[in-house]
Order: sequence, then structure tokens, then C-alpha cells
Amino acid sequence: MAFESLSDKLQNVFKNLRSKGKLTESDVKTALKEVKMALLEADVSFKVVKQFIKSVQERAVGADVMNGLNPGQMVIKIVNEELVSLMGSEMKEIALKPGNEITVIMMVGLQGAGKTTTTAKLAAKLKSKGRVPLLAACDVYRPAAIQQLQINGEKVGVEVFSMGDKQKPVNIAKAAIEHAKSHNMNVVFLDTAGRLHVDEDMMNELIEIKEAVQVDQTLLVVDAMTGQDAVNVSQMFNDKIGIDGVVLTKLDGDTRGGAALSIKATCGKPILYAGMGEKLSDLEQFYPERMASRILG
Ligand code: GDP
Repeated sequence: MAFESLSDKLQNVFKNLRSKGKLTESDVKTALKEVKMALLEADVSFKVVKQFIKSVQERAVGADVMNGLNPGQMVIKIVNEELVSLMGSEMKEIALKPGNEITVIMMVGLQGAGKTTTTAKLAAKLKSKGRVPLLAACDVYRPAAIQQLQINGEKVGVEVFSMGDKQKPVNIAKAAIEHAKSHNMNVVFLDTAGRLHVDEDMMNELIEIKEAVQVDQTLLVVDAMTGQDAVNVSQMFNDKIGIDGVVLTKLDGDTRGGAALSIKATCGKPILYAGMGEKLSDLEQFYPERMASRILG
């Protein structure tokens, strides 16, 4: 279950705090040392943990006991607020152009992260809101990828645009947008090729697409189970091609939460959606408040 092991550890720390009537500064310090350990074990970036603990400590030691709350509860409240601010941002969802204007969304990520699945999940979400999406099969290196997109598109009732595997991705992207225009569609998802690792060729191909067509949103799909790798991948993609937001997949199996807690703080771009399972309906909007309460139990 998402965040289970981190949540268990934090709940143990807070059980001790709650049981005390009055807290000394050293009680708070001890508790925060334990919170720090729990976050590091959850694979949260070291820099993020350090800054997080510093903020909580400053607020916890400096603050007066609030009305109606005992000191233990106050520390928990501060931790909760700091967790929310760690994951939160102004941007909450992908931004779509109004009316029938076409929004082009480029989906990027490493192979196996869940890009193709997520593309279909998102398209289904937008379709249910009255949009008319088109999925463009721009991964020409793995014939299975085109086929998988077609199967997923069929499952959610969204058209898939493919030109086989002999055309350049950039040409497929251009043709897909033309197709969408002439068929009154208003969202085009470009399902781009991933690789096992970040490499020059992949990045250059994505840059080429971005230069040739007007991409409105670039969404990076990363696998929560890969922890700090997902964090590094987010930074690399953002540095090289610029991303607008992240979709964190497989959160359903991530008991630790390192990627969820580190990505916004390290690459500066928010997590907008979370994949919560293999079914095409298993996609949630990423609400920092909800995530923080899952973590704190
Ligand atoms: P791609 O190579 O990035 O296009 O990855 P795929 O979309 O093919 O997904 C790889 C595997 O991850 C598939 O078996 C998916 O069913 C699975 N997957 C994708 N998203 C999720 C998720 O949110 N939760 C779980 N449990 N599995 C997922």
C-alpha cells in the first residue's frame, strides 16, 4: 500500500509525542531525529530531508501552544503542513486550451515507467470531461508499443493515430495534429519513445519534436518504486527538455514514498497525477493534502 512503511514509522514517533502532556525542546529534537531517520529510510533526498527538518524544528520550537491543541498534536500539525508544502504547488492539473483549440501534450519517460498506460488513463479522464482526445503513436522503435497503445485506446474508447514504425516521430506528431484538426478533436497526446536509461538520442528526439510542433504541456511519467532514480530522472528531463509536471506511477506499490516527497522540491515541477494500479481507471489527481494524511495516518 502507498506509503505504508513510512506511515508506520511516523505513527510510532507521534504515538510517543501524543502521550506526553508537556514537551521539552529535547523531546521535540528527539522526535524530529526519528522523523529524519524515517524520511531517509523512505528514500527521500538528503537535501530535502535536511531542509524539511529545519523548517519543522524552527516552527515547533518557536511556536506557542495553540488553543485546544496539546504540544504533541501541534508538532504533528506542523509536520503535516510542511509535508503538504513540500509536495504542493499552484499548478494542480494539466492546463487545457479553452473550447475547441487543440492542446498538445507530450508524454515522456523511461521504458517501463508506465507511459503508455498513463497516456490512455489520462485520455480517458479528459474524455469523461467532454474532451475529444487523440493518441499519437510516436514510439516507432518497439512495434509492441504501438500495439499496446492501440489496445489501451480501444479499451477507453479513444482513437489512436499511427503511421507504423517507418516514419520519423516528429512527422507522426505533425500528422497527428493535422488529423485532430480535421476531425474536430481537441487534445493530442504524443506517446513518445522511452529508453531503459536517459540517453542522448532519446533527448534529442524529444527536443526535435518540441522544436517542430507546438507542444503545450510536457508530462514526465516516472515509476514511484524506483525512488531516488525517479528523482534523478525528473531532474534530467527537466534540465534537458523542460517539463511542466510529473505523473508518478505505481504509487499503489510504493510503501516508502521517497519519490513522491522529493520530486517537487528537487526539480521544481509538481506531481500532477498518481497511478494507483494497472487498470485504466486507476489514476488519481495528486492532492498533497490527501497524500500527507495518507502518510500521517
Ligand atoms: P511504458 O514502457 O512506459 O509505456 O510502460 P507501460 O505503460 O507499458 O507500463 C509498464 C507496466 O507498468 C505495465 O505492466 C503496466 O500495467 C504497469 N503500470 C503502469 N502504471 C501502473 C500503476 O500506476 N500501478 C501499477 N501497479 N502498475 C502500473
